[in-house]
Amino acid sequence: MSPLPPQGVALRATGLVKRFKTGRSHIEVLKSVDFDARHGDLTMVMGPSGSGKSTLVACLSGLLRPDDGQVSALGEDLWTLKTGAIDRFRLNHCGFIFQGFNLFSALSALDQVTTVLKHTGLTRSEARERARTALEEVGLGHRLDMRPAELSGGEKQRVAIARALAKAPRLLFADEPTSALDGENGQVVIKLLQRAAKDQGAAVICVTHDPRLEAYADRIIHIEDGTILDDRRVSPAPDAAAPQLIEA
Ligand code: ADP
Ligand code: MG
Repeated sequence: MSPLPPQGVALRATGLVKRFKTGRSHIEVLKSVDFDARHGDLTMVMGPSGSGKSTLVACLSGLLRPDDGQVSALGEDLWTLKTGAIDRFRLNHCGFIFQGFNLFSALSALDQVTTVLKHTGLTRSEARERARTALEEVGLGHRLDMRPAELSGGEKQRVAIARALAKAPRLLFADEPTSALDGENGQVVIKLLQRAAKDQGAAVICVTHDPRLEAYADRIIHIEDGTILDDRRVSPAPDAAAPQLIEA
């Protein structure tokens, strides 16, 4: 039997402040944000463009140092670690999925995933095997040798998801993962993220302004102008397929 997925709070931020300098003035993009995310949850962060969503994800995941506040990630006080330790934390525990896929144009799907796994200490053949399995799990077993130019947008994002999930991260960050996709491919992607939360017990933090994704969330947090406006837990619909697909 596989071990039970972890439970409880995976990530907790308190009093996060981030300012950017524009000319001679500063804009405060995160205004003392408190945030937490749990293992097994798909936590959706929604808000209009410019509200601070990407900045929040970057501060939570060790990519961007906040000006104030604290992030406790898997029990580590993230921003008190040395830079090298923060990088290692990201490598070992975090998966990332972005709107623009961020794939290497010269690499096949299999190599995109294998390359990342090699940095986690696996041998080349172990990495390839794990990469193959990860791609099969997102339905791309028949696309292993294809380069990004030969793949559709939905397939490219599935490669990126396989790459993120192959190392079974405890924390999975997705920033507008469906924005470049049509509704149907968007659904495939959000269901894969949901599965990472349910099956692997990952804490999935998904930033979006796509209201169609709300149906898949366990929790919906609204952010506007650097402030969290509301935070509600929703019971996930058992099979929250979009209406047009039910009719089809
Ligand atoms: P969202 O992801 O919700 O669209 P962002 O977090 O990307 O919002 O940006 C929030 C605000 O911070 C925007 O006004 C944006 O212009 C500003 N901003 C983001 N990154 C920088 C930066 N590196 N330098 C200056 N301003 C920035
Ligand atoms: Mg953004």
